[in-house]
Amino acid sequence: MLKKLYRKYLIDKKLFRIFGKLIYYKKEWNLSWIDFIKNKSLLYFIFEIKKETMPLPFYLQVEPTTKCNLKCEFCTRKTMSKDRLNKDIDLNLLEKIFKENKNIKVVKLQGMGEPTISSNFEEILKFLKSKNVYLSTIINGTTLNSEKVRKLLLQYFDHIIISVDSIQKEKYEQIRKGAKFDNVVEGIKKLVKDNKKYKKKISINYVMSHLNYKEIPKTIDFFEKLGIPVGFVEVQNWKTPIDSEFFDEHNFVMQERIIREKIYNYIQQNLKEEYKEKYNFSFLMKSYHLKGKCNWGFYMCFITFDGLITPCCIRMEEKYALGSLKEKSFSDIWNNKNFKKFRKAHLKRIYYPLCEYCPD
Ligand code: SF4
Repeated sequence: MLKKLYRKYLIDKKLFRIFGKLIYYKKEWNLSWIDFIKNKSLLYFIFEIKKETMPLPFYLQVEPTTKCNLKCEFCTRKTMSKDRLNKDIDLNLLEKIFKENKNIKVVKLQGMGEPTISSNFEEILKFLKSKNVYLSTIINGTTLNSEKVRKLLLQYFDHIIISVDSIQKEKYEQIRKGAKFDNVVEGIKKLVKDNKKYKKKISINYVMSHLNYKEIPKTIDFFEKLGIPVGFVEVQNWKTPIDSEFFDEHNFVMQERIIREKIYNYIQQNLKEEYKEKYNFSFLMKSYHLKGKCNWGFYMCFITFDGLITPCCIRMEEKYALGSLKEKSFSDIWNNKNFKKFRKAHLKRIYYPLCEYCPD
């Protein structure tokens, strides 16, 4: 009897969660009910079905360029091979991707470069718009003073995310080498003003660590006053033990991990009452390990400017690729032995080097 009730409780809880996901993502990604019925990848995602062989992914992160106008301190771009730097995605590759994968519903433009400075930015956006996908991007905000850039962003994207990891001018400029804090804020203000006509979603992405957590309450206040919500992610180690930088990064990340509860309490004590309902930091009190829980590589993947497919955006480099679209079709790669091995490791929670130290 107890066993029956327990199982029923679990099933009910799962059904409740699935229903919540359906409602949330339908709204979030402007999807229709038909999309959920017709799109097998989306359906698997909602019902949390994971197998070694999966339908082609509905969610792609695509690297539009490896050009960047900054030299950020933490950026792994400096370890990229020189022949892959300062390159833009070829429109033919995008066409191939969409021709071979009919499940694509959501695309995020993000990678080792600043999307807004890719030389074929407008061309890419026009193509993606014609495919009727939910489109988002993450940018560094340095180009927002250009009217043309703001117009392209607001015209084509559903969600524009701007990375800002400090609201202290000096600290910001120290992290984002080459960026001017005042210019970025000025550009953000202009974007918000122009957005009155477009009403697109704009948010800030803030990577929190042991070095900047005390700024969080002020950061929320600062951007909320401009009318922009802030999304918080914990610092992650983008390296694996095969990389020489792994241990330095690991030590840095661990300094945040060991004070997660302290960070949570600090924010709770210092966040203005009016933001407490909107900003939930309870993730800091939960486990952060992703292995075995990750959706990447099952419903989502990352594609580099030159067609390499990796499972996710924190393993963007060439060495993490599980296949190349220059050599094979999307479906050949998606269920090849590399992807099956990756999925098996997640399903059985066994050792898999690429994910073993994720996120730290
Ligand atoms: S490294 Fe592995 S566990 Fe981590 S986000 Fe990527 S796919 Fe998921």
